[in-house]
Amino acid sequence: MITPETPVRFLKGVGASRAKTLEEYGLTAAHDLLWFFPFRYEDRRHPTHIADLGHHLDEAVLVRGRIISAHSKLSPVKRMKIFEAVLEDETGAVKLVWFNQPFLADQIKRGDRFAIFGAPKLSNYGNLQIEGPDWEKFEGDEEDEGAIVPIYSKIGNIPPKALRRIVAESLQALPALEDPLPEDIRETLHVGPLAPALEQLHRPLELNDAFLWRRSSAHRRIILQEFFTFQLALRVRRASEEVKKKNRKILVDDSMRGEVRKILPFKLTRAQKRVVKEIVDDLQSNRPMYRLLQGDVGSGKTIVALIAAMIMIRNGHQVALLAPTEILVEQHFQRISQLLDHSVVLAKATGSATPAERRPLRAGLRDGFVQLVVGTHALLEEKIEFKSLGLAIVDEQHRFGVEQRQRLFAKGETPDILVMTATPIPRSLALAMYGDLELSVIDELPPGRQAIKTAVRASTQLERIYKFIDDEISSGAQIYVVYPIIEESEKLNLKPLKLGFEAIRARFPNRQVAMMHGRMTPADKEATMQRFKAGEIDILVSTTVIEVGIDVPNASIMLIIDADRFGLSQLHQLRGRVGRGPRKSYCILVSDTESGRLARSGRASRAAASQSSGATPDDGGRDGRSPEKERLDLFAETRDGFEVAERDLQLRGPGEFLGTRQSGALRFRMGNIVRDHELMERARDTAIEVLDRQGVAQSEEIARKLLGAEVAAVRD
Ligand code: ADP
Ligand code: MG
Repeated sequence: MITPETPVRFLKGVGASRAKTLEEYGLTAAHDLLWFFPFRYEDRRHPTHIADLGHHLDEAVLVRGRIISAHSKLSPVKRMKIFEAVLEDETGAVKLVWFNQPFLADQIKRGDRFAIFGAPKLSNYGNLQIEGPDWEKFEGDEEDEGAIVPIYSKIGNIPPKALRRIVAESLQALPALEDPLPEDIRETLHVGPLAPALEQLHRPLELNDAFLWRRSSAHRRIILQEFFTFQLALRVRRASEEVKKKNRKILVDDSMRGEVRKILPFKLTRAQKRVVKEIVDDLQSNRPMYRLLQGDVGSGKTIVALIAAMIMIRNGHQVALLAPTEILVEQHFQRISQLLDHSVVLAKATGSATPAERRPLRAGLRDGFVQLVVGTHALLEEKIEFKSLGLAIVDEQHRFGVEQRQRLFAKGETPDILVMTATPIPRSLALAMYGDLELSVIDELPPGRQAIKTAVRASTQLERIYKFIDDEISSGAQIYVVYPIIEESEKLNLKPLKLGFEAIRARFPNRQVAMMHGRMTPADKEATMQRFKAGEIDILVSTTVIEVGIDVPNASIMLIIDADRFGLSQLHQLRGRVGRGPRKSYCILVSDTESGRLARSGRASRAAASQSSGATPDDGGRDGRSPEKERLDLFAETRDGFEVAERDLQLRGPGEFLGTRQSGALRFRMGNIVRDHELMERARDTAIEVLDRQGVAQSEEIARKLLGAEVAAVRD
């Protein structure tokens, strides 16, 4: 009998060698194969005749036939490798075209039979062709003909058909499979039992559009299980933290209100007031606060956090403010010193502090003398102890994970935690990432902010831009020039930055030009930043180290080179570095992805030559713009950070959007947090309800079982 635990080598069709291959991919038992889902289906019941393709323009269809010719060539315009084949069935023939996949020549050969899945379209010359279709070699008398065929991702050298048979064998384990979701929870989630869902996924009898879009009841069952597992695990963890009730009373009296009013150099916006109230309510509740404070760049998060800090300090507790970089620590430290004007004992903690500086700081934190400490992650080191840490404020959540949170927790008696982010996270993603956070949003900018003029320009216009920059400097402006060098990258190549720096220095001989990048020591970076702030530098040529939070009100032009290489949210962060003072401000995006139009008209374009595989000459937008150009234009028109973030998320998907380090935590096997966000909300509501109804201990049991049911996902 085959059970979920049966090792794959006992399945029919699996010998020692195939077992080894499957195991290499994490498929060791029948159970793993059950959870190894097809990434699409092919309806082989109704192949389309080639003669009918004209009726299916731009619609993905299946055609079957024999390859009657195949050859590689070089495209005359873009120097792109093209592989062309002609497929023939009993009704006609059609051209198949693949771009930049020269290896296909070894796999698609004349005389072989193929199933082709793709959308026919008209070429520039009016001929019917299918570009970049999916393909599968077809070996004679297929039992699959006339069925809906699941298509699995490749596992080593196991032929697709053999792999399908092996997975089908594993379905025998279904009757012995336990459903980790109890019936009452299934009801709340509106999903059916597991076994029939798995069967339907591997052996569908019906194919409709909903199925293709992963919207069948079977898909929903799996997606909701993953989302629910995630949400319940988050909630359970949070609940067990909450079990530790806070052991402090936070009072807000008139003298404190007066003091807060005194430090405020301006009137709070309505949104800021609302958020202050939400936070103060949390501070006063007996459950530890875990709140995400979102607000667009410049919306004034710092002052809100500082008000919370004041209240905590006046109640006799310490506050820690964590920032991701030393520059930001320095900036917070100075701004807070100015605002608080010695009414609070303030200290800073960074990794570059000398032992002589560290000792008194540690002592001051331990005995409670230091009331507010601003620091990098150096604050999370084991040696740092607080007398009574009441509130931890984390600026820029992107580098702050669960593990850090736990370390913070260990530093105090259930400290309240406020995480601030200047990168607006779309609601769908916030829910998925931080199902256990409360959310506060500052959705209003302080009055008097002027719009930053954003423009997209080609590098041929650089000289005109430089002229403009020169005039602006003459009237007192300062300039950022940013190169697309990813600071976290291990093989950091600073050459483009250095060349750019030299070029700009040569172009502006009478101006002060400086360079900054992540390879410099923190002290050097800081010194450079201070000189820029002090107005001693006119043009700061930099990598994205200036991306988060830096505040130089006099800087009014942000020039971004090769802007198409940045994500939209990153561009928005960079743009937020200007427009922070009274000067009219500009964000100039330089990009040469001036599209297929240039390329098609025969002019060589650097961007076109380096265009990545799979691109086609028809990639341009309807008006000839490249997708990159369209993306940048859209950014130039959009001022709202949330809108930018939402677009960015749609365009790049959550992994890219969050940066690779974060994406692992959000890798759902089937669920897509953007597409399926309302399922995520349902999962979240259900998790809350289950926790309420069944209590922490029992919910933890369910979560554990669900987590145990997870298996390695092979999908990459
Ligand atoms: P961010 O949300 O990007 O961290 P900051 O807290 O740095 O924004 O605030 C941006 C700027 O706006 C700061 O110079 C701050 O002093 C100013 N600011 C904040 N709130 C207000 C307000 N209500 N009215 C006027 N200026 C404000
Ligand atoms: Mg800030």
